[in-house]
Amino acid sequence: MEIEAYVPGESSVPGGMKPAKLSSNENPLGPSAAATAAFKAAAGSLERYPDGSATGLRQAIARVHGLNPDRIVCGAGSDELLNLLAHAYLEPGDEAIFTEHGFLVYRIATLGCGGTPVVAPEKDLHTDVDAILARVTPRTKVVFVANPNNPTGTYIPFDEIRRLRQGLPGNVLLVLDAAYSEYVRRNDYEAGIELVATTGNTVMTRTFSKIHGLAALRLGWAYCPAAVADALNRIRGPFNVSAPAIAAGIAALEDHGHVDKSVAHNETWLPWLSAELRKLGLRVTPSVANFILVHFPEGAGRNADAANAFLQSRAVIVRRVGGYGLPGALRVTIGTEAENRATVAALAAFMEGAAR
Ligand SMILES: *Cc1c(COP(=O)(O)O)cnc(C)c1O
Repeated sequence: MEIEAYVPGESSVPGGMKPAKLSSNENPLGPSAAATAAFKAAAGSLERYPDGSATGLRQAIARVHGLNPDRIVCGAGSDELLNLLAHAYLEPGDEAIFTEHGFLVYRIATLGCGGTPVVAPEKDLHTDVDAILARVTPRTKVVFVANPNNPTGTYIPFDEIRRLRQGLPGNVLLVLDAAYSEYVRRNDYEAGIELVATTGNTVMTRTFSKIHGLAALRLGWAYCPAAVADALNRIRGPFNVSAPAIAAGIAALEDHGHVDKSVAHNETWLPWLSAELRKLGLRVTPSVANFILVHFPEGAGRNADAANAFLQSRAVIVRRVGGYGLPGALRVTIGTEAENRATVAALAAFMEGAAR
């Protein structure tokens, strides 16, 4: 009963208008056409169980990323994998560390197996390696770090992740959640593949929900040390990934053009939206992902709740992040050009109206 159920981003507005849904960090371009076609083709054999080891998908992931397919475990979204990792490595009384504004699934997964959540403060909305290391105890079993993090959109350089790994005891599993890694364009960033390959106690999770635009299908994967892959394969459901998801996932991975287009779209509109909102006098946390965290003035009138209500009245749905300890901010996903322009126009009207 200590677990507060995850509240997804809202998806509709009163009055039945077609909203700009900028509340769940989905791909505004949608999935690859090849992925949609593969999904439809899979409809011809729905009576068959899927390949329980998702071999074709693991091979496709291995090809694209240069990995050993035996170390890849697929799941129904990376959410399932995060929960499986918690179940494999946390017993009642064990501690899992994550950061102050870290992804909410870490807390739910930890409490769900009787573990104790330990929260490390962040530094200026960034993961603070020293704060995490300072909270390690003999009971610490898992550290979850989203890099980049949701909902802050910030990242830490991979040198810092290496320093974290070096500072953690060997029996502590470091889980690097790289859900937004494809969007990051920074020379000092890595998703974590090499660290997984070289340490034996580090896992990287990835998702098809963001860059690949397949959130509805629930598909994610983890790159693991052999012993961790073995543990996950023992406790996961034998058919945890559906056949249409496997088919669409393979097609999505192979459509490099669509991935490139999605990254390019974000590279255009992430800086544009950040700059336009700053011009309105709003503070925007610098983001490397496909969303931004926008901070509103405190007090009545121009605060985040008022902004959220105003945006809804203009059919723009964004994400409130009070549950992440950020009641003064809203998280806005980078949308289509029209959606981004509508967001700026609505917030301009909001700030002007509120100033009067
Ligand atoms: C969206 C997101 C995920 C992906 O979740 P899925 O279950 O794969 O849809 C994982 N981690 C973070 C930090 C996210 O924001």
